[in-house]
Amino acid sequence: MTSSRTRALVVLLASVGLVACAGDAEAPRAALKEDAPLLTAGPVVFGADGLTPPLSIPPFAGASVALWATAEPGVCFSLASLVDFQGRRWVDRREAGPYCLDCGVRTSLAQEEALFVLSGGGGFAPHEGFTVRFGLMACETLTPSSRGAAPRLRLEWRPRPEAPTMRGLLRLRFLVSRHSLLFRQPGRQRELLERLNDELAEAGLGVTLAASVELPDAAPEARFWVTELSELSALVARAPPALDATVDVVFAGCLRYDDPFFGPPVSVEGFTPRVGGGAGPASAVFMPGLRCDGFGADPTNAPMETSARVLAHELGHFLGLYHSVETDGTPDLLDDTGEQNIMNPHPSRAGARGWSPSQRRQMLSHPWVSRVSDPE
Ligand SMILES: [Zn+2]
Repeated sequence: MTSSRTRALVVLLASVGLVACAGDAEAPRAALKEDAPLLTAGPVVFGADGLTPPLSIPPFAGASVALWATAEPGVCFSLASLVDFQGRRWVDRREAGPYCLDCGVRTSLAQEEALFVLSGGGGFAPHEGFTVRFGLMACETLTPSSRGAAPRLRLEWRPRPEAPTMRGLLRLRFLVSRHSLLFRQPGRQRELLERLNDELAEAGLGVTLAASVELPDAAPEARFWVTELSELSALVARAPPALDATVDVVFAGCLRYDDPFFGPPVSVEGFTPRVGGGAGPASAVFMPGLRCDGFGADPTNAPMETSARVLAHELGHFLGLYHSVETDGTPDLLDDTGEQNIMNPHPSRAGARGWSPSQRRQMLSHPWVSRVSDPE
């Protein structure tokens, strides 16, 4: 086993209980219509080295840009190169694992399609223009792949203006299985939403409930991994089609992260399939309703306040935030976060509180967050 492979496995292990992903092909496009015109490149073909040709994003007026990359079913890929207009290389290779640890701009592996929201910071200024290349990854091992010139990739992008004095609003849809204590309990659902808003207030983000859907026939257990999301997709598929620019929050049964390289499966407090949600399979946030270790499938019994904090943390992943400090000590790339932050890998712990200004900026850059005037 190579050292990079070993580290990839460590990264995977460290990501237990945190990650996030996305799934409806139309929603991101619709959400992006609010701002500037949608610009398109491609489709381009992954070459024999597994890389696309360079794709240039010209200078734009704004602070951040959302890249919507669409490949084909069964194709995994990652950002392989990111070079700014001054020639500085922020990403220069595909790194094994669910996201790039050594990159100057951190992004996650994509499966079939994904949103990459580049909000700048740390010296990277996307509005000055940049060039990207994407590269194939093996979905089974999360390692770079060069499968030849078959699959294609299409890229769309939309710039977004800076809005430092604005607040953000995010729409949620609850998908509630009978395994959750929220099932047919509108009062509890409202209470969770209120406490969730309390948790998110410091980040300048409010959430509203667009709809609540019952999933009475949902399976009592779902097993999943970074690129093995079929059981989670099956839960979402029990609901009516996704709403535009609305995050589905699935209150499921027992949730087990089942790493094929490290056993045994472990239960999670919450799960978001890809950091940076909004496109790709199982694009939603998942919360457990049953303990995996209980006799006769006991319900989870976390206090409402703890559930709200874990859900806020998962929404942080969906909107592009990594753990402030991973369990192996790896910090995020933001200069104003630390262990005492809600993006701590253990959000239910008492010290895991609060958001930083950089986290706020990142979250409000996500194209699904609509902006409202700050009452202050
Ligand atoms: Zn997490």
